[in-house]
Amino acid sequence: MKVLLTVLDGISDRPIKKFDEKTPLKKSDTPNLDHLARSGVNGILDPISPGIRAGSDTAHLSLLGYEPRDIYTGRGPLEASGAGIKVKKGDLGLRCNFATKENNEVVDRRAGRISNTSELVKSINEEISEIEGVKVFFKESTGHRAGLVLRGKNLSNKITDSDPKKPHKEPKKIKPLEKEAKKTATILNQFISETEKILKDHPLNEKREKRGDLPANTVLLRGAGKVPEIDNIKTKYGIKGGLITATGLIKGIGKICGLDIIEVPDASGSVDSDIVAKAEKTLEVIDDYDFILLHIKGGDEASHDGDPEKKVKFLEEKIDPAMKKIVNNLDNENVVKAVTADHTTSSELKDHTGDPVPLTINSSNVRKDEVTKFSEETYKGGINRIKGRNLMPILLDLANRTEKYGA
Ligand code: ZN
Ligand code: ZN
Repeated sequence: MKVLLTVLDGISDRPIKKFDEKTPLKKSDTPNLDHLARSGVNGILDPISPGIRAGSDTAHLSLLGYEPRDIYTGRGPLEASGAGIKVKKGDLGLRCNFATKENNEVVDRRAGRISNTSELVKSINEEISEIEGVKVFFKESTGHRAGLVLRGKNLSNKITDSDPKKPHKEPKKIKPLEKEAKKTATILNQFISETEKILKDHPLNEKREKRGDLPANTVLLRGAGKVPEIDNIKTKYGIKGGLITATGLIKGIGKICGLDIIEVPDASGSVDSDIVAKAEKTLEVIDDYDFILLHIKGGDEASHDGDPEKKVKFLEEKIDPAMKKIVNNLDNENVVKAVTADHTTSSELKDHTGDPVPLTINSSNVRKDEVTKFSEETYKGGINRIKGRNLMPILLDLANRTEKYGA
């Protein structure tokens, strides 16, 4: 049997006062999601462990069966890999924003929400390929974002960020946090100053200024991390896996774990994304794979915006029609269908919390329970409460893909 794991990013929530203490999941009318719960086995899941406020990156690593504490040093290498840089073990990766600086102050961390930076990236790559014997790889990602990778000897991720995180602050000099990181900090500060020289009179920036748009005249760096040594999905579980997501960070995780990235042109990673197109893509490719991870982002975004109504609307108008495609077209005999979240995102706190998330597993061989709705109350079901890292073994066992342990 095959496995389809759908991760609804940040979909669980805490009770919302204006919803009479209901969560968005409890308030939503989602017949197809509920059908999966009603005819499946249910539980709740602590993405990393109870009370830990997981990021999307560490949570996804855990859901795929990895121990984030052993391999995660920062978001940078995942973003850089997601942007399309072919990273290698030991590389140093960073997240990068194109930004606007005036009088040594960052006036806009997103350079007027610039949407295409490929011309800028091309010019930077033409001028900078190596600094102090260390190779430099730079690549644009969505919007104002980009990824940066350094490859060479004696690099360290124990450095500070240059990103001041708030507007109207000076960009910070990158500082080493240990003696061994001095060289890394020097190289990155040099990368920033050389990049600023290239961007200063760049034709694209001149065009932008003429139009009244802010120029992208600096880069802000953060999230330094080392590319970990990691067993890929194939070696770890003996399966061929694919990933459908519109989010750069999750693509990066997929690449590092050895999942094929399956592109869906109309998916945006936002509440306006075409989720049905993602479900249709899943149906189209599932025959070629043993395992598909389908990641749907919009719910998390609505919660970060503090907008639980938007979360309900996204559940009812985007997620549930996509689930309908899956319910109607993937039969229970051949596919184990699981739905969960990577963490809870509280619409009132506008951030992730450590609350567990719902989990539903639906296939012909699960022991059905009495849960009738996909919500935070799936704890009443037969799986009870598990950790993120327990999920893959359970799914692969239900798909009859695991070996006996012992005689
Ligand atoms: Zn997330
Ligand atoms: Zn989030």
